[in-house]
Amino acid sequence: MCHFETTCSKGIDRGFRLQVEAMYCTKCKVLKDIHIGNFPKYEFGKNQFEPVDRICKKCETGEYLTQWNTMDCPSCGHFRMKHRRSDILWD
Ligand SMILES: [Zn+2]
Ligand SMILES: [Zn+2]
Repeated sequence: MCHFETTCSKGIDRGFRLQVEAMYCTKCKVLKDIHIGNFPKYEFGKNQFEPVDRICKKCETGEYLTQWNTMDCPSCGHFRMKHRRSDILWD
C-alpha cells in the first residue's frame, strides 16, 4: 500500500460556472480535478453545458487522462485511499 492521497473532488463536481471531474493522468501519476465544461450563461429552463477539451495541465495533453472510480488508489490500486476534504475555490 502506498501513501497516495488526494484533495480533489469525488467524481463530478459542479461550481456556479464550471464543472470538473476527478481524473488520473497515467503519465504524470497525478489525480486532479480536470475542467470538463462550462455553463456560460444561465437561461431559465435550459442547461447550457459546453464541454471543453480535458487537459492535464502538467503534460498539456488529455491523452493520458483516465476516469477515476473515486475510491481506489489510481497509482497502485489499493482500496479506499485517504481522502482529504476538498478545498476547491470556485470563481
Ligand atoms: Zn496506492
Ligand atoms: Zn499529465
